[in-house]
Amino acid sequence: AGRLEGKTCFVTAAAQGIGRATALRFAEEGARVVATDINEAKVAEIAGARIETRGLDVLDTGAVAAMATEVGAVDVLFNCAGYVHHGALHDTPLESWDFSFELNCRSLFVVTKAFLPAMLDNGGGSIINMASVVSSEMGVVNRCAYGATKGAVIGFTKSVAADYIGQGIRCNAICPATVQTPSLDERINAFDDPEQARRDFIARQKMGRLATAEEIADLALYLAADESRYITGQPMIIDGGMHL
Ligand code: NAD
Repeated sequence: AGRLEGKTCFVTAAAQGIGRATALRFAEEGARVVATDINEAKVAEIAGARIETRGLDVLDTGAVAAMATEVGAVDVLFNCAGYVHHGALHDTPLESWDFSFELNCRSLFVVTKAFLPAMLDNGGGSIINMASVVSSEMGVVNRCAYGATKGAVIGFTKSVAADYIGQGIRCNAICPATVQTPSLDERINAFDDPEQARRDFIARQKMGRLATAEEIADLALYLAADESRYITGQPMIIDGGMHL
């Protein structure tokens, strides 16, 4: 039997990158998956026997509440939506700081709060939040707003883990280094010398390569599955040796 047989999983930002790879991996392991993204047409590409897709903007509190009511109790909630602002403090506009916190943090509050009551009624579940090594784990250049938001994701994760541990909820965060995804390509192509930028991104991981979205999906699968039943409140680092 699959590692997620009998479980219902809800995923945000599932149209591409890590969210998409994870929705597909969850389904392969027997879960029923509700895969959502602001890009409804693109997420619909992965609809299938075990995957239902829906348009969902995690910034739209009304839409999130309606979705939580429609979907009901889930066993696994994967909060994957997030975005990278490039800049040091001196070249980060306040609007970019605010938007980073809206998309990377406020969405976590809104989505998790909407889905939590039914999860509690159902005896618990696994909540997985997308953080980054660029957070309270590590400082890197030009990630002022981003690193601040992902540090907050880890703090939020630990708080949810502490508050609901007696009610069957586990809550963990995933902290990747650089992952090959469509938005990474966009960030690299925005440099004056994209080839050098790619070499620089690769050089940070001492394994000498980027992670694949599927490698991050395997960690999400582990945190979703019962194999990780004794793990909660953890920022799980998956970084190809960036810390070494
Ligand atoms: P991506 O950035 O390529 O794709 C992001 C997806 O989010 C898109 O499908 C987009 O339509 C969707 N999205 C954007 N705004 C949305 C909204 N308001 N509501 C719902 N969906 C929305 O994907 P990725 O690079 O895999 O990043 C996913 C997560 O992983 C993010 O939280 C990111 O910070 C984190 N992360 C990525 C990397 C990396 O190197 N790629 C590293 C560490 C952490």
